[in-house]
Amino acid sequence: MANGKIYSFSKGVISNGILDFSRRTPFVREVMLEKINPARIILPMKMNYGVPCEPVVKKGDKVKVGQCVGMPKPHTFASPVHSGISGTVTDVAPVTLPNGISCMAVFIENDMKKTTVESIRPRTHINMSARETVAIIRAAGICGMGGEGIPSAAKISRARRHGVNELLVNCLQSEPFATCDLTVINEYTDYVVRGASAVASTCGAKKVRFLISHRRKSEIRMLQSAIDSVKDEFEGLSYEICLFRDRFPQGYYRLVAKALYDKTLAEGAILEEECKAVLFNCSTIYAIWRALADNMPMTERIVSVCTDSYCRNNVLVPIGTPLSEIINSGIGSTPVNDRIIWGNCLTGIETNDPENTPVIKITSAVTIAPRNFIPKTPCIHCGLCSETCPMSLSPNIVYEMLIQGLSQKAAEEGGRDCIACGTCSFICPAGIDLASMIAPFASAGRIIEENSLLHNTSFSSGSHKEGEEDIIGELSLLEEFVEDEDDRKVSDPNEINLPFKGGKKV
Ligand code: SF4
Ligand code: SF4
Repeated sequence: MANGKIYSFSKGVISNGILDFSRRTPFVREVMLEKINPARIILPMKMNYGVPCEPVVKKGDKVKVGQCVGMPKPHTFASPVHSGISGTVTDVAPVTLPNGISCMAVFIENDMKKTTVESIRPRTHINMSARETVAIIRAAGICGMGGEGIPSAAKISRARRHGVNELLVNCLQSEPFATCDLTVINEYTDYVVRGASAVASTCGAKKVRFLISHRRKSEIRMLQSAIDSVKDEFEGLSYEICLFRDRFPQGYYRLVAKALYDKTLAEGAILEEECKAVLFNCSTIYAIWRALADNMPMTERIVSVCTDSYCRNNVLVPIGTPLSEIINSGIGSTPVNDRIIWGNCLTGIETNDPENTPVIKITSAVTIAPRNFIPKTPCIHCGLCSETCPMSLSPNIVYEMLIQGLSQKAAEEGGRDCIACGTCSFICPAGIDLASMIAPFASAGRIIEENSLLHNTSFSSGSHKEGEEDIIGELSLLEEFVEDEDDRKVSDPNEINLPFKGGKKV
């Protein structure tokens, strides 16, 4: 039940139905969910946090919906890749994604038959131990769908290790205009609440808190109704709906910690340790329940089709769908000169090749924006970037130092704290892309620190054969992810024991 309090953090971009930009048009609510069955998909072997998988199919192979086409190499931090369509593998070849990641990819031509792997059938009862739950989630290739894509099995393991009390379900859209997570709530409320209950139980948390915009009255009602109908099935859990003011970016764990617990987390601090809470995006929670109840791996996602000022629509697509398939479907049709952005308006990356740029597990939006809609000028010292930076940086100063090659000074100014939210670039009236300079600087600093940690652990000297950059990940997650082989075994999927009481017929 919501207690009426509205949580928020300072700075960021405030939205009360209309963004605070006089030249932008009003926020437009999403319309009905469309489904796209693409002619082909491209499945990169690295779509999220971790190392690339290894293709386990070859050119000419027939594949089915739900079939695994990419497997992690032993003892690596990676999530398996599955096909969301049935058809024929037309190629296994390298791709380079707009974020610069190069890896092998499996190209599949759709036979439009939607033939599913025979063993994928809904489980008749959800009776499983926490360990088996984690094993299923890992095998299903589930990762966070709202951020960097941390493998969910690793996150749950870390939450268990830190003895968390609360599961936070992020139903806030991190960026303006996108409504994909809210669409998940609209379409699959029951799955979100059941999935949250299962994840909380698996993590050992006793409370589930849904974080949602206070303006989303209908979604709040839907969540409350679903909670009322399932809460008796999950004994020992309590539920709360926490209302948030729209202020972008939102949903990032350090901002959530500030808003909910009034705690300022230092870079690298762990939410599970500092606040005894673990944060999951609601789309990820939905995917987890789909894996537990329907036995379906992560094969599809909802993507918002946005402009630079509103959301046109949301589409349900198989992961791997080229952006061109979405745009050409007519749902997101656009003048030829517009920019196609892989992602949201704040953090997305422009692509010139939408035919070969796929939706990956963490792609929440495709943004279509007019080209050069902001004229570029030198900095006019308006101070807007400092006013809105949620990490309280002075992006114009950090940017200037980086331009001059003064990395040490940029670090002293807090540049390493940048969370790559893109707000400064979005708001700058001079059209300066501050984030494109500051965010890589911050991320490079984190990689250096993590590399030094990895060199001091037994993990880095283990059987992993990839280059150093391939095993970059948060150390505590790496330790949890590489578990003994018993953790990977799943018993008869129809006869497993609950971490929560009572059997749930699905
Ligand atoms: S400096 Fe970084 S954290 Fe601050 S607004 Fe820019 S991108 Fe966001
Ligand atoms: S928002 Fe742009 S113009 Fe304004 S101070 Fe920052 S960099 Fe300069």
